[in-house]
Parts: sequence; C-alpha cells; structure tokens
Amino acid sequence: MLAGTMAALSFMSAGAAQAQGALVMYCGVQEEWCRAMTTAFERETGIKVSMTRKSAGEVFAQIKAEAANPRADIWWGGTGDPHMQAAEEGLTLEYKSPKMGELQDWAVRQWEQSKNRTVGIYSGALGFGYNTELAKSNNIGEPKCWADLLKAELKDEVQVADPNSSGTAYTLLATIVQLMGEDKGFEYLKALHKNINQYTKSGAAPAKAMALGETTAGIAFMHDIVTMVVDKAPVKVVAPCEGTGYEIGSMSIIKGAKNLENAQKFYDWALTADAQKIGAEAKSYQVPSNKSTPVPPQAPKLSDIKLITFDFAKYGSSEERKRLLSKWDNEVKNLPK
Ligand code: PLP
Repeated sequence: MLAGTMAALSFMSAGAAQAQGALVMYCGVQEEWCRAMTTAFERETGIKVSMTRKSAGEVFAQIKAEAANPRADIWWGGTGDPHMQAAEEGLTLEYKSPKMGELQDWAVRQWEQSKNRTVGIYSGALGFGYNTELAKSNNIGEPKCWADLLKAELKDEVQVADPNSSGTAYTLLATIVQLMGEDKGFEYLKALHKNINQYTKSGAAPAKAMALGETTAGIAFMHDIVTMVVDKAPVKVVAPCEGTGYEIGSMSIIKGAKNLENAQKFYDWALTADAQKIGAEAKSYQVPSNKSTPVPPQAPKLSDIKLITFDFAKYGSSEERKRLLSKWDNEVKNLPK
C-alpha cells in the first residue's frame, strides 16, 4: 500500500517536472539583463531556461542555420531589424499575446509590420560618447555632432561594432543613410572609417572600452553608455546634433520551437509591467514597451533627442538589410586607411 502510494507520488512529481519543462532562449541584450530575466522566469514558473547571449546579427544567422532543426524556442531582445528579417523569411511564428493591450503604440506597430511575428519590448536612441580625460589629452574639445567624429585628432580613437554581427552598428548604418541620404551617408562612413580603431563584434563593447580608457570615443546606444556613467566612468553621453536613429528591441518565437507552450508563457510574461522592470534593475536603461513600467530616470529621454523618422519596415526587410551590409563590407570595411 505504502509502496503503491510512493510510486504514485513519484510518478506525479515526475509528471509535474515534465509539465514545467524547459525553454531554450537566445538573448540579444547585455548578459547581466539576460541572466536576470532567466532567473526571474525560472523562479516564477519552475521552467528551466537554457540561455545564450549573442549579438543581433549573430542570432539571426544562427536561427537561419538551424531552421531545419531549431534548437531555440524564443529570441528575446536585440534590435528589431534582424527580428523583422526573420519574420519575413518565415523563421519565426505568428503570435498574439493577451498582453498586447498594455503596450506602447511603437511596440504594437512593430508587431503589425512583421505580420504578428515580432513585438517591441523596449526602445532606445543611438548616440555616441567620449572619455572626458582622453578628450582633454587628445585635445578634441566637446564633440556634439556626428560630424565631430571625423576630426583628424580622433584618428584611431573612435570605436563602433561591425553591423554584420551587431544590431547597434546596423542601426548606425541605417541611421546615417536615412539622415544624410545614401551617397552622402556612405561618404560619411568612409571618412569615419579613417578614425575607427576597431569594429567590435558586440554593440556595447565600445561603451565599455571608453570607460576603460581604451578608446576616446565610441558609438553605441545611449542607454549602454549611460550604464558606464552610472558605474562612475569618466564618460559623457552625446545625442548627436544632426539627429539620430533609434531601435525597437524585439522578441520573437522561433518556428519549430520544441517547447512552444513555454515560449508563449515567456512571451506573455516578458511583456508584463513587472518583468519589464528587471531591465533597470540590471542597469539597462531602455524605455520599456509596457505602458505601466516606469521609465528608468537614467534612461535618455526620447522627447529631448532629435529623432529621425526611422523606417523599420524598409531597413528590417531582408533585401535592404542584405544590400546595405554587403555595400558596407565592400565600400567601407575593406577600405585601406
Ligand atoms: N545591449 C543593449 C542594452 C541593447 O539594447 C542592445 C540592442 O537591442 C544591444 C546590446 C545590441 O547588441 P548588439 O549591437 O551587440 O547586437
């Protein structure tokens, strides 16, 4: 009798564990925020999360390579452009969360433009920063505009990521083309190339390098540079005077997800006001997409920044993204200095 009860109990607990199951997540924001989200979701649901952090373009390439036998269930975070491209290429699934009504218009628009395959989870503007001590010793004054990054004094003193791997750097490419027009924009990027010391893999790396005094200036999302300022680095954040672009960080469910129900559970949870508070707690100062999540006081105020009208549908389309990246590879990256 006792043995029978114990057998039944152990059967039940195995069943419960199985029902909670697992979730494989590719995460596109800073490692610290990725880990905080994973831990909070595991605590709340008992679902075991296996998380990998990668830059936006790298996640896209991986999901595409794994399409015949997908490893991941959910892709959370990172700039919207590769999420849009994945939607167009049928690599992600349509889903309508019951939480859609709680989101800002820009987050819902992202979902509509992707035919219900990706949703906005946060937003933030692109900008640059500089190390105030190095700026003084290099005699560059106080750069305020994109044009200031071309100064001869900044030779080998500007850092930005490679747009093939990084969503941040692709946002720069798309921003400059929209702001200046394609011909003038590429002229600008070629001139900037002379001052670039390194094209990093990850978008936030230049912010960290600036904080460590490894580069005078760095181009990144303004919120990533704010994280350095909060950590007391001698760094100043700049909203470029000519105007700038911004991102809509996004989330998508992967087609062929083996843990589809858990992916939907995560998706719904990640859109809640409480889950979106975790960003600021992990020192990520984007503007959250849930209207009830307070905007962190450290977040650069989008209303104070001269923002361009960013065409997310065009610059997230498969054809345009491929075309611009290959043009950048051919005309900018491989240019001798
Ligand atoms: N880190 C944060 C905090 C971001 O908001 C984003 C973009 O969504 C990134 C990093 C982008 O990373 P990457 O440029 O490496 O793709």
